[in-house]
Amino acid sequence: MSTTELKAEYSGVGVCPGRVVGPVLSMPDPVSPPGEARRDASVGEEQAVEAVTRATAAVAASLKARAAEAEGDAAGVLEATAMMATDSMLLKAAKRRIADGATSERAFWDAAEEVTGMFAKLGGKMAERQRDVRDVRDRVVAELRGVTPPGIPHSDRPFVLLAEDLAPADTATLDPAKVVALVTSEGGPQSHTAIIARSLSLPAVVAARGVLEVPDGTEVHVDGGAGAVHTQVTEELRAEVEAFAARRATIQAFDGDGRLADGTAVPLRANVGNGADARAAAEQLAQGVGLFRTEFLFFDRDSEPGHDEQVAAYREVFEAFSGREEPAGDAEEQAGGEGSAAPKVVLRTLDAGADKPLPFLTDAEEPNPALGVRGFRTERSVPGVLARQLAAVAEAAAAVPDVEVWVMAPMIATADEAAEFRRLTEEAGLETPGVMVEVPAAALCADRITAEVDFVSIGTNDLTQYTMASDRMLGSLAELNDAWQPAVLNLVGATGQGSSGPVGVCGEAAGDPVLAPVLIGLGVTSLSMSPASLADVAAVLRTLTAEQTRELAAVATAARGSDEARAAVAERIPALTELGLG
Ligand code: PEP
Ligand code: MG
Repeated sequence: MSTTELKAEYSGVGVCPGRVVGPVLSMPDPVSPPGEARRDASVGEEQAVEAVTRATAAVAASLKARAAEAEGDAAGVLEATAMMATDSMLLKAAKRRIADGATSERAFWDAAEEVTGMFAKLGGKMAERQRDVRDVRDRVVAELRGVTPPGIPHSDRPFVLLAEDLAPADTATLDPAKVVALVTSEGGPQSHTAIIARSLSLPAVVAARGVLEVPDGTEVHVDGGAGAVHTQVTEELRAEVEAFAARRATIQAFDGDGRLADGTAVPLRANVGNGADARAAAEQLAQGVGLFRTEFLFFDRDSEPGHDEQVAAYREVFEAFSGREEPAGDAEEQAGGEGSAAPKVVLRTLDAGADKPLPFLTDAEEPNPALGVRGFRTERSVPGVLARQLAAVAEAAAAVPDVEVWVMAPMIATADEAAEFRRLTEEAGLETPGVMVEVPAAALCADRITAEVDFVSIGTNDLTQYTMASDRMLGSLAELNDAWQPAVLNLVGATGQGSSGPVGVCGEAAGDPVLAPVLIGLGVTSLSMSPASLADVAAVLRTLTAEQTRELAAVATAARGSDEARAAVAERIPALTELGLG
């Protein structure tokens, strides 16, 4: 398509704010499938097996080397993909085909298809791993052919990367000095692309249909806040980009003290999955952990981790925050009377099922897993796992005395479930039980739920999916899957009003600097987010009083839809433009 036929604007979903201008480069063409031909008689079975083994080892080694250079999330996804390259299931399936006479390329290709088919059947988070397997397949086949592996294109000058959707290994190796923005035609707000873009603070637009027709080298303007890609870069847009960069340069790093303009304390905490995340969050002065997703310890294995392994993993996270003090006037102390100057780490008990299936805990055959036995409900089907986890948490917490450990259960829908969780925590000797509000039922019964437990934390990712009845992983439903939907905000408000203790938010909404003040105005007392979002959220909150956040909340909940809510709130926060977030 020639440049004149391009649309002036491709719109998608903005998943990380920022404005840049740059030439686009698309991801290279995918590796083509090998032919169906059988193995030449001159190539023996052993030789073909050896070729595959060598190629998978080489791919794993190169991914591991890249992981060693990468940081944070990037290192984690690369390591996971490297492990996939030497996955025994994949290799076994390939060897079987080689024994049947297939070429090494064909055998590995078909083995990968078999494994992706299995992941597809499992659905949810496991289904996402299909992309990892295909990524490994392409790299191994490229290695067998002796051609350049697929991946991020190389360029001497900075560029906007265009792709259908990025594989974790690609996304993870992005050099933010070279790649200035990400634009994908597929994917949604919870895709790997979106999560890594946020962790690198890289402007990103996902689900921008048709954008792949923009030829390499075309200069575009990307607005990662509005979710727009402009192919006609006017002088006005260039000036906006410059002004934006100048304003962004004035944002200070987070100083470890989340507050409103009137001095009201709003602790800003971090979402973490392991000790390394927690140490990085502590370095960025997060005020503790608002969501420790413990399920990461349970993934990729066929049985529950043992007691000592669990204790060690939980201790690592608690220790990252030991010896630090929280600033005075923690709003949660006022709300819940739980005061202490020690930082809090809110640990969420195992959240398996739906997008996070675990072979030893959840049923892969459930017809509708998002509405199935997941989160706290797995305690019914496989009792004991939770009690053992809580015992390990209690032992780890006792070993790190200067951190206040709170525990919460995911996917609670009733006061009875909350009471049952409290009973289990009491048995384990843990003092501060809480629950997540991710189901509309819990939001609407927050008064009865907080009569049973000490605090709640709103998981806006799931609360949005259940309120809007839209699968959170589907890019095509990105518009519905938006925490700005007034129905979702009204449920946040109902939780704030009904709760008798602290109310956190730990879904992605907490890290949106425009939405954060609305959440506070709806009665939320602390926010937990990716550490990359702390500075922006803190900077916006510092410009608003509690009264102003309540006014913004009233505007947002009364809006007709999510776009109207976002626009109406953004226009009432003058600091957004000054901070380069508008
Ligand atoms: C949520 O649902 O908002 C949440 C924080 O939990 P997760 O994203 O892990 O399901
Ligand atoms: Mg959730």
